[in-house]
Amino acid sequence: MRYSSFFLHTNKDAKEFDSINATLLQKGGFIDQTMSGVYTMLPIGLRVLNKIEAIVREEMDTIGTEMLMPALSPRSLWETTKRTEIDVLLEARGANDASRKRNDASYILNCTHEELVTPIAQKSKSSYKDFPFAVYQIQTKFRNEERAKSGLMRGREFRMKDLYSFHKDEDDLLTYYEQVKKAYTTIFERVGLGEDTKITLASGGDFTTGFSHEFQTICDAGEDIICIDTETGIAYNEEIAPEGKTYEKHKASEVGNIFPLNIKFSNAFNYTYMDENGKPQLVYMGSYGIGTTRLMGVIVEKFHDDKGIIWPKSIAPFTVYLAGLNRDDEDTVRKADEIYTALKTSGIEVLYDDRDIAPGAKFSDADLLGIPYRVVVSKKTGDQVEVKSRTEAETSLVDIAACIERLKG
Ligand code: ATP
Ligand code: MG
Repeated sequence: MRYSSFFLHTNKDAKEFDSINATLLQKGGFIDQTMSGVYTMLPIGLRVLNKIEAIVREEMDTIGTEMLMPALSPRSLWETTKRTEIDVLLEARGANDASRKRNDASYILNCTHEELVTPIAQKSKSSYKDFPFAVYQIQTKFRNEERAKSGLMRGREFRMKDLYSFHKDEDDLLTYYEQVKKAYTTIFERVGLGEDTKITLASGGDFTTGFSHEFQTICDAGEDIICIDTETGIAYNEEIAPEGKTYEKHKASEVGNIFPLNIKFSNAFNYTYMDENGKPQLVYMGSYGIGTTRLMGVIVEKFHDDKGIIWPKSIAPFTVYLAGLNRDDEDTVRKADEIYTALKTSGIEVLYDDRDIAPGAKFSDADLLGIPYRVVVSKKTGDQVEVKSRTEAETSLVDIAACIERLKG
């Protein structure tokens, strides 16, 4: 991608927001705030989100099947489950008389999708032979959060991967539940958060008398507190941590949550299957979320320095920032163009800064944007290129073949 033809605008002197991710993602031109808690994913931000969601999708495909449910639903579904009083539920209706004259209905803007997925499953899977199965989606959710804050970490409109599983009995649900834990662990490892993300016991809400599990990433901007038992290493959400124990406490952000729903929703919709003896039995369900936009915010909170973001390679918007200097020198421009083509041909994702601006401005953009490697082509570099990683201070002068080797490694 040539910078000159990419829709990207950085501003390292832009204002500071309430959190590191809000500030750096806006300075770097990754996101644009429409209003509190609502953001546009600008092209370079979308590249990161797409990479995060591709990793989530790859791991989910090993345990479920993707589909896409609507963002709107009729109120009647929420009446069936008695969840019309959820405190973050939003509604959409005609915005003016003319619109309401056409259609006066009001709709729920879905904050989660149990109300949708349960009747869908009920329509097609009703024999014991059909179980277990699981479906997931990656979609936009709407929640009327009291306070939208910390950039992508708490939005009123945000992206979530939500997976729903269906089982003949509780044992089968619990077996699958453990598979989800493994898949989630792999996802958080792949995006670079493995070490600091703790499986945390949390309240089961009104779904189960047991626990649910949160994936909590230790992070100062997080809104939760987790208590890690110094003896057993078990992590508890502070809300349910047993008293009289010794804990190590951390601020953390909930990047994922897995819930045994048991029969709460199948009961509400009277979703039963015929068992081996021809008797109807209620279906057991589980629900499993990962906030993909929150995850992007948390990654920035964890990986940055005073110059900007430091994206883990697995989700970086590009692998290389190619800074072409001396744009008034035809030979150097030709050489930079050739290197750009060579990198692309080798399958390396390059952001080629082909603008006619000062070297310092290019270098500060490379740091702000957090691209893992910077390659410089200038009059001075001759037949070679200067390469360094985002976290190194020292550059090395290498020939193009060695450079490609290093970037691919
Ligand atoms: P929280 O406790 O942070 O409000 P929650 O328990 O209500 O979250 P779930 O309903 O379990 O969240 O949603 C699944 C995942 O979606 C969460 O683990 C989180 O990663 C993400 N998420 C929830 N609310 C938001 C939000 N307002 N903005 C961004 N991501 C969110
Ligand atoms: Mg939660």
